[in-house]
Amino acid sequence: MTHTRNTAASPAEPNRSDTSRAARSPPVDERSERALSESMTVRPLPDRRYVVDTDGGTYVVDLDAGSCTCPDHAIRGARCKHLRRVALSVTAGVVPAPDERVGACAVCGTATFVPADDRGSHLCDRHAFDPGTVVGDRETGKRLVVTAVTTDRADAYRTDADRSLADYESNAAYGAHEPAVEAVYVESLRPETALTDLKTYAFPASRLTASVD
Ligand SMILES: [Zn+2]
Ligand SMILES: [Zn+2]
Repeated sequence: MTHTRNTAASPAEPNRSDTSRAARSPPVDERSERALSESMTVRPLPDRRYVVDTDGGTYVVDLDAGSCTCPDHAIRGARCKHLRRVALSVTAGVVPAPDERVGACAVCGTATFVPADDRGSHLCDRHAFDPGTVVGDRETGKRLVVTAVTTDRADAYRTDADRSLADYESNAAYGAHEPAVEAVYVESLRPETALTDLKTYAFPASRLTASVD
């Protein structure tokens, strides 16, 4: 709450005229602020739209079309509070964007938003790697630089030897459903050789650890 009611009878505050004027006409902002803090539940639909549940009714919001099924929107064509709430919820990461769905991290199972049309294996922010990150191999202790995080499951990813990653004995302790992460060995780095020209190796995601010293 940013606005508190003015208490004209407050003993600490003399009843000045400007205080009473403020009490009669609250800032215009207060109305829209109240609208945005109003209790609404936003749920994504499978067709890119959202259901918004409020005390006053249940409406369907289409962000792509900028439309809502509420009377306010139908009558005035206004950008109603439901549309605004859905947009805010997407921005805040509370609900997936229209082109996303809720998936699970292959390492920890945490719900994470993934591209809707990508049925591959995904990682949460905590377990994902950015290309260029130096990581350690839990099996050998060697250091590598991540070049790509694929969405291919370890048991579907084919190595140069035409074997699946999950077939390798050294990967037995890691999930076959985890995405394959491609990396180059730090020891293979040469100032004159581009990263893309180096031999790339793939690992199930949790075999690599970002915490290297
Ligand atoms: Zn609406
Ligand atoms: Zn995770």
